Amino acid sequence: MQYRTLGNTGLKVSEIGFGGEWMDGTLEDTLAVVRACEDAGINILDCWMPDPTRRSNLGDALQELGSRDRWIIQGHLGSTWQNEQYVRDRDLDQVKPAFEDLLARFHTDYMDLGMIHYIDKVDEFHQIMAGPFYDYVRELHAAGTIRHVGLSTHNPAVARLAVESSDIEMILFSVNPAFDMMPASENLDDVLGEHVTFDRDALDGVNPDRAELYALAEETGTGITVMKGYAGGRLLDASASPFGVALAPVQCIHYALTRPAVASIMVGYTTPEHVAEAVAYETADDAARDYAAVLAGAPRHAYYGQCTYCGHCAPCPVGIDIPTVNKFYDLAAMQPSVPDSVREHYRALGVTAGACIACHACESRCPFGVKVADKMSQAARLFGC
Ligand code: SF4
Ligand code: SF4
Repeated sequence: MQYRTLGNTGLKVSEIGFGGEWMDGTLEDTLAVVRACEDAGINILDCWMPDPTRRSNLGDALQELGSRDRWIIQGHLGSTWQNEQYVRDRDLDQVKPAFEDLLARFHTDYMDLGMIHYIDKVDEFHQIMAGPFYDYVRELHAAGTIRHVGLSTHNPAVARLAVESSDIEMILFSVNPAFDMMPASENLDDVLGEHVTFDRDALDGVNPDRAELYALAEETGTGITVMKGYAGGRLLDASASPFGVALAPVQCIHYALTRPAVASIMVGYTTPEHVAEAVAYETADDAARDYAAVLAGAPRHAYYGQCTYCGHCAPCPVGIDIPTVNKFYDLAAMQPSVPDSVREHYRALGVTAGACIACHACESRCPFGVKVADKMSQAARLFGC
């Protein structure tokens, strides 16, 4: 298992995580999955669910295995259970007992990541951050009951506000190649509703707001953990995918993990076999991870000329890591000046773009028509080497 630093939190999280949402079986089922996760080195768990059964099963499983302190848990504030139903609530009379219930069911007195749960509206973000809800978050943080403050959202406009806020240290955000082509929306149903079909003709490459979000998150050190990496399963189904063919889980995982600032993808499991399927990413070869051919089948011109960081163009005869150079270039070019952190990372590369001999060998292998040699020359100019 590879581990990544979750932005400025400094936490080292497994790049494959555990989204607890689908863990709705018995305690024995939960134990089997948690054991499989631990055996594979998974150490980050998202628990947004308010229902007592899943909370208790997960908490009891960690207690039985004596492993709570080895896990980094995303515990949500504002996800409540009322009349046997999930209710997203901002009323502290509901929010506080729901969070205390989470701690109690996990037999713990802290959450590593205290997540302000599911804000998709810009107005609501401002209200929460300026009101009693955030005062409560601040209190929990000061007391060490939550070690770091996070926020979950599906809307890149809200995610951007979170990334720009010095109060929010990380975000849980929906990332996949289909959503990445869609504009911001305050309504999750616009991207994930049952009735939604992706309009192939309306899609036109990576949405600039989303590209800027990733760049800004990288710059501010706001770590990203990923939800909806398979777009609710649609990307695994040829008839529902905007690409017209099914992606494999390993390809979706690779896409998420090759976005800037992303540290981990939360994958849902109900059996140890599901864990093994996701963890197979760790040993998959480049061909199995490669999502390029599928994305290249996206609507005409959707990604044309844009680097998706897929790595399909390797090898370079002089040893340039083309996707990484392109990623740093894209990150830097979106800013008024090159951020120091990006410059340092670029300079730490063994071979930089200045070494390009313009042989164009990579361009014939790029399914997206990226003018790599031109891009290398632009990168060399921008970074000075
Ligand atoms: S240049 Fe093309 S093949 Fe290479 S990483 Fe970018 S999109 Fe992929
Ligand atoms: S054009 Fe430049 S980056 Fe591409 S393979 Fe040749 S030397 Fe490498």
